[in-house]
Amino acid sequence: MIDRYISEKAKSIVPSITISMASKVRKMKAQGIDVISLETGEPDFDTPEHIIDAAYNAMKEGYTHYTDSRGIPELREAIKNKLWKENKIKVDVDEIIVTPGAKYGIFLTMLATINSGDEVLIPNPGWHSFEACVKAAGGIPVRYPFKMDESPLNFESIENKITHKTKMILLNYPSNPTGMTLSLDELKHIADIAEENDLLILSDEIYEKIVFDGTKHYSIGSIKNNGVVTLNGFSKTYAMTGWRIGYIAGDKEIIDQILKLQQHSVTCACAFAQKAAVSALLGSQEAVEEMVEEYKRRRVLLVERLNEIPGMYCPKPQGTFYVFPDISATGFSSMDLADLLLERAHVSTTPGKAFGSLGEGHLRLSFATSRENIEKALEKMEKALIRVWR
Ligand code: PMP
Repeated sequence: MIDRYISEKAKSIVPSITISMASKVRKMKAQGIDVISLETGEPDFDTPEHIIDAAYNAMKEGYTHYTDSRGIPELREAIKNKLWKENKIKVDVDEIIVTPGAKYGIFLTMLATINSGDEVLIPNPGWHSFEACVKAAGGIPVRYPFKMDESPLNFESIENKITHKTKMILLNYPSNPTGMTLSLDELKHIADIAEENDLLILSDEIYEKIVFDGTKHYSIGSIKNNGVVTLNGFSKTYAMTGWRIGYIAGDKEIIDQILKLQQHSVTCACAFAQKAAVSALLGSQEAVEEMVEEYKRRRVLLVERLNEIPGMYCPKPQGTFYVFPDISATGFSSMDLADLLLERAHVSTTPGKAFGSLGEGHLRLSFATSRENIEKALEKMEKALIRVWR
């Protein structure tokens, strides 16, 4: 009965597997079971102190009201300078909009650009919210294969997916979940494909600072001047997930449309979080460097230990705080293995299937947790698997 009140759009969005894993974990923890979480998608570090102080001072100074829907001028100026200095992206302050989290930026960009029935190319495997955001706007997500290791991106398979309905290609690099990124040459090639086929590019670069072994991050917005929307945020770089602050930068015509949607939905991002974000961009970057150094150490440990477990093969991620080992030789599906590890080893992971069909045969493990936890988890995982195989 009630079902007839539910929109087709809402019905088309499937609940995330990660949410169902999280609820299993919650239940186990409520029973007093000590579960080690390797499924988290957020830094385990605290937000750096000077950023917290900036928010506190901002509250005292009266940053407790609505702000300009585009974001406070001071923050947009800092973002503009950052984009030019670090990303070689040239935008004006009115080509930037500050959103309550980068995720909301994806959602608004889809709403502002996608008509019902438009196709949007999204990575496979790729972060599960991309698909949901496309569907919420009435679009049709079409998956293209993304890099699982350092082998080059398969451009032909992307071009094969383009039809007269394709409106946009979404990039996410370094990638959640594979940890792999795109080189300057690959970005140039994608820019050419977009140009030839008149595609809008949405480039999610939220993990840009978490890169290893001299990997350099390039922005596609520095290669192609028009038709690129760059998305970034503070959640990962500055350990600010709970602050809900991100931004979009791109062509003014698109930003102006997004602005209307922001005005009529959330009005603006949180005022004092915006002041804190100014301090994040302009203040010392030492804490970011320290966090990345620690991620580096954890990554080495996790990759080494995973490759010692029979049936698992784990390439070294170029960035992010995820590894995406191939588990197909274990003989288990990604869902069954994630369930087995949760029940028998009390270690939570994310089944690769949650990220699209090509994610099957993989698990996503996060190293946004201590080295001690990683060591303990890997020991328990190995023991559980050996017991099953015996
Ligand atoms: N993009 C990707 C690829 C992500 O992994 C995430 C967070 N899991 C986001 C965007 C969302 O970030 P925010 O917290 O700024 O909404």
